[in-house]
Amino acid sequence: MPMRDFDSKDGRMVFAGMDVVDLADRFGTPCYVTDEQRLRENYRNVYKAFSRYMETEVHYACKANTNLAILRVLQQEGAGIDAVSIGEVKACLKAGFSPDKIMYTGVFVSTEELKQVAETGVMINLDSVSEMERLAQIKPGAPVSFRITPGIGSGHGAKVITGNKGAKFGIPKDKVVETYLRAQDLGLNPIGIHAHIGSGGQSVEPFVEEAEVLSELINQIGEAGIDLEFVDIGGGIGVPYKPNEDEMDLGQMASEVTDVFEQNTNVRKIILEPGRYLVCDATILLTRCTDVKDAGTKKYIGVDAGFNTLIRPAMYDSFHYIQNGSKFGKACTAKFDIAGPICETGDYLGHDRVLPEPDEGDVMVVYNAGAYGFSMSSNYNSRPLCAEVLVNNGEAELIREKEQVEEQWRHQIIPERLLR
Ligand SMILES: *Cc1c(COP(=O)(O)O)cnc(C)c1O
Repeated sequence: MPMRDFDSKDGRMVFAGMDVVDLADRFGTPCYVTDEQRLRENYRNVYKAFSRYMETEVHYACKANTNLAILRVLQQEGAGIDAVSIGEVKACLKAGFSPDKIMYTGVFVSTEELKQVAETGVMINLDSVSEMERLAQIKPGAPVSFRITPGIGSGHGAKVITGNKGAKFGIPKDKVVETYLRAQDLGLNPIGIHAHIGSGGQSVEPFVEEAEVLSELINQIGEAGIDLEFVDIGGGIGVPYKPNEDEMDLGQMASEVTDVFEQNTNVRKIILEPGRYLVCDATILLTRCTDVKDAGTKKYIGVDAGFNTLIRPAMYDSFHYIQNGSKFGKACTAKFDIAGPICETGDYLGHDRVLPEPDEGDVMVVYNAGAYGFSMSSNYNSRPLCAEVLVNNGEAELIREKEQVEEQWRHQIIPERLLR
């Protein structure tokens, strides 16, 4: 499947049955809008692809998007959760996930956080020997798994590759067996093994290599007398961000990866942790054109969403497809840079995009904004966090109110002496 695209009606973009200009008028901009049905379909696609072959749990890596309503939709679908902080664990409990559906995977975890996470009763996936020793004190007998460093990396950029040798994540391969034995000695109950190679990979091959490494380790651990209940291959399934880019073949990935475990091990349950794949193309970002500028060598479409709202282009040089939702399908006239209101040259959403001649007030639509969009947004330049909307069956509902400027001051203190 290529990148998801949308229909045009009367020259305007229609998203999940809704006119994007109407949505922008009603909820204001910038604003993230999510298609509930697409979210559900994405979950079902992954679950179906893998459950044909093995007992499967799909744990949504919720750092991609932690809106409570989105969490709730996935909870209804039967998803589990991959959480990376106590804040995420609590958000998922609040959204209705039971603790046994949640797995916590931290890195460089503080003892205070480890205690809080252990108290919630969620499964803990250990990242280091020190974390193991501390958990054995805090919660004797706890079922655990370990994140291992597979020595394989994959991802859309260097900053998001996590599984390479020497990475800050996990237990190095040559220390794995001794670590499982030590966990038993300490009175913990090791029942699983986990790896995560990176984010946004577009080919099946690294996942198969990862499965081979995990299989070998499962067998070594088995020979040492510990049989594991599950293998967790992490997340990282990429999605197409460009119109003619192909989607990774999920069916092929499922068949090849499960085959490695079935042929080589006796582990019968697989867990996956997709973040991006579940939420990315379910959401668009609406941002209004505030100003059109001809800078001589370049033409700019100035918009009200900067890297405070969507940081991926500025941070990773990520490509997001952008269209003019108010003139959708109209003839393109020139190349434009689309840039936001933040006082930095690095603040842009897209470079050199061929688009129709814009007018101030047009609604620009940023595609594939559901993953690492709102969840990485900030208050930089003292701009309030934006609204989020959920669309279902031709109805739109607010799922996050736009923040008020004043709310940014609520935890700040001017010492009394400075006011005298
Ligand atoms: C970020 C992360 C994921 C999800 O990555 P995606 O690329 O969004 O699928 C899964 N597991 C762990 C441990 C992660 O840190």
